[in-house]
Amino acid sequence: MTDLTRLTAAETATVVASGEVSAVEVAQAHLDRIGAVDDRVHAFLHVDSDGALAQAAAVDSARAAGEQLSPLAGVPLALKDVMTQKGIPTTCGSRILEGWRPPYDATVTARLKAAGVVILGKTNMDEFAMGSSTEHSAYGATHNPWDLDRIPGGSGGGSAAAVAAFEAPLAIGTDTGGSIRQPAAVTGTVGVKPTYGGVSRYGLVALASSLDQAGPCARTVLDAALLHATIAGHDPLDSTSLDQPVPDVVAAALRADVKGLKVGIVKELGGEGYQAGVRQRFDEAVALLTELGADVVEVSAPSFPYALAAYYVILPSECSSNLAKFDGMRFGLRVGEDDGDPSVEQVMARTRAAGFGAEATRRIMLGTYALSAGYYDAYYGQAQKVRTLVQRDFAAAFEKVDVLISPTAPTTAFRLGEKLDDPLAMYLNDVATIPVNLAGTPGMSVPVGLAPEDGLPVGLQVMAPAMADDRLYNVGAALERALLDRWGHPILEEAPAL
Ligand code: GLN
Repeated sequence: MTDLTRLTAAETATVVASGEVSAVEVAQAHLDRIGAVDDRVHAFLHVDSDGALAQAAAVDSARAAGEQLSPLAGVPLALKDVMTQKGIPTTCGSRILEGWRPPYDATVTARLKAAGVVILGKTNMDEFAMGSSTEHSAYGATHNPWDLDRIPGGSGGGSAAAVAAFEAPLAIGTDTGGSIRQPAAVTGTVGVKPTYGGVSRYGLVALASSLDQAGPCARTVLDAALLHATIAGHDPLDSTSLDQPVPDVVAAALRADVKGLKVGIVKELGGEGYQAGVRQRFDEAVALLTELGADVVEVSAPSFPYALAAYYVILPSECSSNLAKFDGMRFGLRVGEDDGDPSVEQVMARTRAAGFGAEATRRIMLGTYALSAGYYDAYYGQAQKVRTLVQRDFAAAFEKVDVLISPTAPTTAFRLGEKLDDPLAMYLNDVATIPVNLAGTPGMSVPVGLAPEDGLPVGLQVMAPAMADDRLYNVGAALERALLDRWGHPILEEAPAL
C-alpha cells in the first residue's frame, strides 16, 4: 500500500472522499510517523491522538452517511501552539502558559474543524513567536529534517518541520515578521502570509496585533491554497478582519500561468549579505520566470533597508503591551504565592521573572522603553513613519509591476546554536520578509532548489498587493511546475535526514 504520509493534502482528500482509504487510516499513518520521527525532529509540543482519531472517524461517518465532504475533509494538520484549540494545552512555547487549556476555539481552529480537517496536535515555536530558529522555545528546539543539526527557521519551525518531515501534509503558522515564510524557505516547503485582515486573529495569541497574520504551510502550492481558502474570510469576532470576498487562491494555483505578468525584482533585497547559493538559485528562478513568459524588471524600494529597524521598535512596543496580561492571575503559571506573605505585585513579578525567557524579556524591556514618555516620539513615532514609507514603496512598485520577488531568507538553515547569543544576527534573518508585514500585504515563500554549497533548500519570496493573494499562488504554482518539469521530482523527496 502507498505510504499515506507521502500524499499531498489534495490527494489525501481525494482518496478519502472516494472511500479508497478511511480518514482514520490516514490519521493513524501520520500519528505513526510522528511516533517514529518526532523524538528527533521535535516538531510537536502536544499530540492529540484521541482527538485526531475522533475527528477522522467523524469524517468517515459523514462520508458513509452520504454527506458532501469539504475539500480538505480527512486531511491531517499540525496547529502552531499560538492558536487556541478548546481543551488542548496552548503554551505559545512559553513556561508562563504552562497548564493553560483554552476554553474556546480560535476562528481558524473552528473553521478547520468545520471543514473536517484532522488536527493532530500543537507545534513547537519560539516563545510567543519571537525568533527565527525555534530555539527560543521553553520546551527545547525543533530540528530541521534536512539536517538535524540545523534550525528549522522560526518562529513557526515546528509547523514547517512537521510538514517537511511528512508528519502532516498541512500546518498552520503565524507570520508577524516572517515566521511562516522563513521556516518554509529553510525547510523546502511552501508558506504564505495572507493579506492582513484576510484571516481572523480571533483566538490567535497576540504578539504584535498590527502585524500578526495566520496562514498555511504545505508541501505544494495547491495544498497551501486549499488551506488558505478554508481559513480565510470575514470574521465579526476580529475587528481588523476584512469584509471582502477572499481572492480565489485555488483557481490561481491551478492556473499557474505567468505569461505577460509583470514581475519586479526588489533591488534592495538579495545583494550583499545573501549566501551565494541562495542568490544562484534565485537568479535561476528568475530566468525560469522569463522563459515562462513573465516580463521581469528591477524595481527599487528605497525604504526597505530601514524596515528591519522600524520593525524591531514597533514589534517590542506592541508585544510589551500584549504580554502584560500574563501575570500569573488568569492564565497558566503562578510562582511564589506560598513563599512568605507576598503582595499581589510580588507574585506577578515572580511569575513573570520565572515564566518569560530571555528573548521575551528583552523585547518587553525594549518595548516598554520605546513607549515611555520622552522616548515615544523618538522611537515609536519614528518607526511608524518608516512604516508609512515602506507602504508607499509597495504602492509605487505595484503601479509598475503585478508582483515583487526576492530571496525569502539571506541564508539556508544555519546550525543550531550559531546565532543564539547574537540577537542582531538572529533578527537579520527577517530582513527580506519584514517589509510585507509592515505594509499588511501578502507574501509567499516557494522552494526553488538546493544551494550548491550545502545542499539545503532555498526559498523565493513572492509579494503582491493587499487582497491580491491569488497572484502569489499563480506565480508560486508556475515556478513549482516548471521546477518539477526540470527535475522530475518535487524538492521534498530529497529531505535526507530521517
Ligand atoms: N523572526 C521575527 C521575530 O523574531 C518574526 C517573528 C514572527 O513572524 N512571529 O520577530
